[in-house]
Amino acid sequence: LDANVVPILDSSGEINNVLVLLIDITKIKRLEKMRTEFVANVSHELRTPITAVKGFTETLLDGTINDEDTRRTFLQIIHKESDRLHRLISDLLDLTKIEQNKEILNFSKVDLKSLIQSTIATMRPQIEKNKISIYEELDEVQVEADEDRLRQVMINLINNGIAYTPENGSITVRLYQHNKDFIKIEVEDTGIGIPEKSLPRIFERFYRVDKARSRESGGTGLGLAIVKHIIESHGGSIHVESRVGKGSKFTIIFPKKKYDIYET
Ligand code: ADP
Repeated sequence: LDANVVPILDSSGEINNVLVLLIDITKIKRLEKMRTEFVANVSHELRTPITAVKGFTETLLDGTINDEDTRRTFLQIIHKESDRLHRLISDLLDLTKIEQNKEILNFSKVDLKSLIQSTIATMRPQIEKNKISIYEELDEVQVEADEDRLRQVMINLINNGIAYTPENGSITVRLYQHNKDFIKIEVEDTGIGIPEKSLPRIFERFYRVDKARSRESGGTGLGLAIVKHIIESHGGSIHVESRVGKGSKFTIIFPKKKYDIYET
């Protein structure tokens, strides 16, 4: 709380009253803290791949490595890290745009069943490579939404399912009518699960349960933050249930009709 005390003088210049202004600055402070943390996080996330790229190119330029295999390994690392940098920057830009509502959603009628089917089709090679099964339980459902953004939501959730589910596990995607105005999408996996204390935090930017594992799977730590923003900007909601060692289930409740806020 911030307090300002203003004396109120009478005609003879005597203080006969004081005005006390109490301003609640906790919210402002909290926003400030979040912004500082965000900048620190971004800097750290960017520095890691840049340091790797810089280090390995310098070593290659030294000319001291004659072994062709080692040179190739170094180049592969540089390639992987620049890829990561690219993903990180485009995720960050996406998130900022969605957050500032700068990017107006491009509404159209979307056949969600075929959107999900085609998304899964493009991800199938990766799913098979990871020796995971995927099941679809999809009803015919139409919504008014930004098709590209919804596709991004499905990609991010299924990608996480793949990244955090060991071999022989499975992912199930369900789509059905929830009630008159809303539909429901579920993405459930039989993966490693999320500890209970982490559950409230996983939609935060850069929050990861296991940093090393996320990095290994190519994650940026922004996937779920983007998902949440897209869903909420459509007037929907998302929540997660999970048990360590058993798996996780992400549930989206999504309006069938265009959300009022974008009516104008
Ligand atoms: P990342 O790029 O690290 O996957 P996300 O924002 O997509 O970032 O997810 C945040 C964190 O939530 C992940 O690092 C991981 O710890 C956890 N997580 C997300 N999805 C799953 C899942 N399906 N199973 C287990 N953990 C998950």
